[in-house]
Amino acid sequence: MKPIKVVIVGGGFGAVKFAKTLRDQLRASECEICLFNRENHMVFHPLLADVAGASINVDAAAAPLRQMLPGVECRTERVQRIDLHTSEIEFTEDNGNLSRLQYDHVVIACGAESNLGIIPGMSEHAFAFKVMSDAIYLRQHIVQQMEYAEAASDPDRRRWLLNFIIVGAGFSGTEVAGEINELVRSSTRFYRNFREEDVVVTMVHSQDQILPEVVPTLREFAKKKMEKAGVTVLLNTRAVAATHEGVELNDGRMLKGGTIVCTIGTAISPLVQNLDVPKERGRIRTTSEMRIEGQTNAWAIGDCAYIINAHDNKPAATTAQFAERQGRQAALNLVRITKGEPTQPFRFKALGQLCSIGGYQAVAELFGVHVSGFPAWVMWRGVYLLKLPTWSRRIKVALDWAWDVLFPRDLSFLNTDTAQQVTHAYYRPGDFIQHEGDPARVFSVIVDGQVEVLQKDPVTSEAKLLAVLNKGDFFGEGALLGNRPHETSIRARTAVRLQQVGSGLFSQFAGSFAPLTDLLLKAFARNSGDIWRRVPMVKPILERESLESLIDSLPAELLSTEAIYADAIKSLEESSTGRLVVVDEKQRLWGTLNRADINQIFARIAVIPLEARGDVTHRKLTDFLVANPAYVTLEDSAFVAFATMLDHGIGWLPVVKSNDDLQPVGSLRSEKIVSRLIEKIAQMQPGHAAVAS
Ligand SMILES: Cc1cc2nc3c(=O)[nH]c(=O)nc-3n(C[C@H](O)[C@H](O)[C@H](O)COP(=O)(O)OP(=O)(O)OC[C@H]3O[C@@H](n4cnc5c(N)ncnc54)[C@H](O)[C@@H]3O)c2cc1C
Repeated sequence: MKPIKVVIVGGGFGAVKFAKTLRDQLRASECEICLFNRENHMVFHPLLADVAGASINVDAAAAPLRQMLPGVECRTERVQRIDLHTSEIEFTEDNGNLSRLQYDHVVIACGAESNLGIIPGMSEHAFAFKVMSDAIYLRQHIVQQMEYAEAASDPDRRRWLLNFIIVGAGFSGTEVAGEINELVRSSTRFYRNFREEDVVVTMVHSQDQILPEVVPTLREFAKKKMEKAGVTVLLNTRAVAATHEGVELNDGRMLKGGTIVCTIGTAISPLVQNLDVPKERGRIRTTSEMRIEGQTNAWAIGDCAYIINAHDNKPAATTAQFAERQGRQAALNLVRITKGEPTQPFRFKALGQLCSIGGYQAVAELFGVHVSGFPAWVMWRGVYLLKLPTWSRRIKVALDWAWDVLFPRDLSFLNTDTAQQVTHAYYRPGDFIQHEGDPARVFSVIVDGQVEVLQKDPVTSEAKLLAVLNKGDFFGEGALLGNRPHETSIRARTAVRLQQVGSGLFSQFAGSFAPLTDLLLKAFARNSGDIWRRVPMVKPILERESLESLIDSLPAELLSTEAIYADAIKSLEESSTGRLVVVDEKQRLWGTLNRADINQIFARIAVIPLEARGDVTHRKLTDFLVANPAYVTLEDSAFVAFATMLDHGIGWLPVVKSNDDLQPVGSLRSEKIVSRLIEKIAQMQPGHAAVAS
């Protein structure tokens, strides 16, 4: 008889236990097992904090799947889609092509993803704490911060480098805070420029106690011990934003620090999101035997599944001990089905909780017994040592831990050159992105939001607004191309997201790609800063000029974001000015359209493959047009409007009520501003008064 084909998606606690149990129960001639995982190893999450804190070696917490699972075909590939109707999975091959594979049974065990998007700025500035690379990069970063602190001459910067902020005080937050605290404090003796008192490790937690999962006495113990070891615990406090500077709290305080670890926020994997099956809070609903509701040959286990535990009729917890038991039980149920026997519901009583808090201390609740302090720490290490998947891992970790007790933690790190990186950054309204006189380190492109370009008045030293830059605009190119410090400051006007290219990468790319260099030089040449230096009288005149006296009325017809391409062209043809304003459903400015845009849209359509193009004339205008155009507000001066036009190389600008209310109220033309300017300059000429009189 042909063996049944079982495909497992995922290689974590649930998947590995499922594969092992099934392999033990059914011979290769009865069942082929194929396991797909994004990485070639299983991550042992409970030890990630130890990796970040350098108390074990990186590879000890990652077990290679093919060595753990003899008799199972292990494929390091990402599954893109599961087609439950045709019983096929779709995955990406090494050459990038999509391939399909038929199955008799599929087991979805793809866990959950970390989601830093729940707090503005976290995805740009914080470390997630879920996969192996998170722990590795965090460890590198911590040691690097200590090296920078050693070299820093500015005490404020040194303080910032030695401030570590952990958001969330559940199991992973508490464990990683304990480990970072231990690593940094125990290492200070190797540095000359800072001491233990300079180190600040802060845990920010929204509830009134840390470790909400354990009993109150153990929570209290953990908090007291951690505070004694130097960790600051902020309870009933929420992080509301993260920036390069640190974490903004809900009470308005800014917690400054160069390292942010975010241990809160999980998201459902895209694979699960795209599955059309019953779900509960995004997780896949299963029957008690763990088949997906309404399916006969599809199963779901672990963090991605919503399984009712027959032990207490409550949803099973999303922890490793539950995922493992589900993996085993689901595999046994599949075997029962192949033998025509009845399946069993998932039933499991949690064994307890273990949490290490750093400094050879832990809290443990096992089989109803509560232990804390050093004995709990020994228990914690003993239990996880036995739980590690292979004997080679157990010996490796045991040796690492013994080494850690006897010798200082390893402070070597690979120097990652930020000049060669592309990074992201988030700034709150009012935050400075660069200061005049700072050395040029990055080239920044605005992904979202609006910034102000400021320059110090040489006489008064007051910062004057030179221009406003919007989504798609960029800055930093002048200083990088000229190899000199910034001549302007940049301040976020709204919340701003940036994509930043390190100076090294920028130089390589700009140097070898002539069209880019040309574009950057043109952009730099039209940079308003230079013009004001050459014609200094213009700036004060325009600063005094009210914007309202220069505003034209808006075109009678405003285009809606729902307008189709063909209608938009017609409206433009009929417009006397050749410019149209596009507004969204709330009548807020969304974009502008002029004749030059029509040519660009053609170029954009040309690169869409023919089969995907469809009927272009009936496509929405917003499919092709870029949102968020340059604009000024009624509060801005004529100078800001003119400088913004120069910066964008345009001669027309929409005007909106304010930054909070983007309702268009009129438009500005450069010729009108220039003619007013000439008029004013003429009035200033000697003899003008005589003529007038
Ligand atoms: C820092 C940390 C500490 C923890 N400590 C504990 C603890 O002490 N005790 C405890 O019980 N639990 C702990 N947990 C929770 C525990 O790790 C999870 O509940 C458990 O890992 C869930 O197992 P799983 O099999 O569902 O998913 P995971 O173990 O997350 O595995 C999912 C796997 O699927 C893979 N995958 C995802 N999508 C795809 C795709 N499309 N194609 C191919 N592969 C894919 C992923 O790469 C991953 O390898 C901790 C979690 C974290 C993050």
